[in-house]
Amino acid sequence: MAAEIINGKELAQQLRTEMKDEVVSLKNDGIHPHLTVVLVGDNPASKSYVRGKEKACLETGISSDLIELPTTITEEELLNQIDQLNDDHSVHGILVQLPLPEHINEQKVIEAIRPEKDVDGFHPVSIGRMMTGMDTFLPCTPYGILTMLQSKDIEIEGKHAVIVGRSNIVGKPVGQLLLNNHATVTYCHSRTQNLKQYTNQADILIVAVGRANGIDASYIKEGAAVIDVGINRLKDGSLTGDVDFESVAQKASYLTPVPKGVGPMTITMLLKNTIKAAKGIENSEG
Ligand code: NDP
Repeated sequence: MAAEIINGKELAQQLRTEMKDEVVSLKNDGIHPHLTVVLVGDNPASKSYVRGKEKACLETGISSDLIELPTTITEEELLNQIDQLNDDHSVHGILVQLPLPEHINEQKVIEAIRPEKDVDGFHPVSIGRMMTGMDTFLPCTPYGILTMLQSKDIEIEGKHAVIVGRSNIVGKPVGQLLLNNHATVTYCHSRTQNLKQYTNQADILIVAVGRANGIDASYIKEGAAVIDVGINRLKDGSLTGDVDFESVAQKASYLTPVPKGVGPMTITMLLKNTIKAAKGIENSEG
């Protein structure tokens, strides 16, 4: 079997075109969606992510601004900055690019963002709402993964979803979203013994580890839908995922590539969350 490739770049483009129309109509109603990104320090990877987010906003008609702060900023100064953004009615979404310098408590900063502006979906209130099945800002990468599965009408209900990785930003929340959609969910991580025993049972396999090509066809159940979240930079500068694309493509029914897979979807869901924040519907139950 040759897997159908889920092209995240194309899907993202399609969604962004739809969002562009939505932003035009919001602007006609006097609502101008605006995202403020806060970047502390000059980590090159963070800078590149931030540029990607700004570009995507621009393409969609969402306005954005970037607040660049020096690595030497104190935690208190950063928290004050966030307070100002919380109170600024023209700012609908606040995104603090992670990681932060070591002297700043990341969790404290995440919790300082008003949940109504938490477009990253990392605030404990957003996570709690997601866990209890309420309408909220879903964390962007898991939301993007769910959207990719749904775009191909891949059945989730009653299926066995195996998640490799349990980080707070990818593994844990993507499992929760699939559970909310009635999958039976198994989490695997670095202490899991005999990983294959679990991945070989997966109808849907989500891999979010950060280890280049660690999952080959021997980990895959024939016909599984495989989502590769990993982004690993090889010595030659190219990017690759956690899944050995060539061999897994022969066994899976669906597979996401890296690049052009989950990455573009993550940014797209950030745009979606920013529009949602601007519409102010985040507190209604879903
Ligand atoms: P973390 O490093 O936070 O988490 C990695 C997870 O993998 C941990 O839960 C860890 O287990 C688990 N793990 C490590 N080694 C093994 C192993 N040998 N077997 C099974 N599980 C293992 O990473 P993130 O979740 O933040 O990111 C994962 C990958 O996804 C990275 O490559 C990252 O770059 C990429 N990413 C891509 C995004 C996108 O938009 N495409 C967005 C975010 C991340 P334990 O908890 O026990 O340590």
